[in-house]
Parts: sequence; C-alpha cells; structure tokens
Amino acid sequence: MKVALDAKRCQGHARCAAFAPETFVFDDEGFSRVREGFENVKPELQEKVRRACTNCPEGAITISG
Ligand code: SF4
Repeated sequence: MKVALDAKRCQGHARCAAFAPETFVFDDEGFSRVREGFENVKPELQEKVRRACTNCPEGAITISG
C-alpha cells in the first residue's frame, strides 16, 4: 500500500497527524506531507493511514495498492 498527499489541497487541519502521526509531518507553514521513506506504508501502519485518508476534510490524501 502506498500513500500520497496533494499539497495543493492540504489546508493544514492536522487531522492526518492525529490519526497517523508516524506517517505525516508538517512543514514550517503548517501544511502536511508524507514523511520521507513512509510512502510505502508498512503493514502495521496501514489502518492508521486509512483512517487519516478517510478523515482528511480536503481529500488531500490518496492511498493505492
Ligand atoms: S487532514 Fe488533510 S488537509 Fe488537513 S493537514 Fe492533513 S492532509 Fe492536510
């Protein structure tokens, strides 16, 4: 499973990090991105990332595979 984040959609709600803090980090302006090296989601983090995807109000997170 892979995860991607569309920076153009992100509004900085931080809900993604509440659900999956291992996977999402924030830049200096308060917008989220996928932590480097975490684009391929480890099995133990997949449920958290699915919840983050479902709960992003902007639809900025996509998962595949
Ligand atoms: S929940 Fe969505 S819009 Fe909010 S910071 Fe995370 S990716 Fe960005």
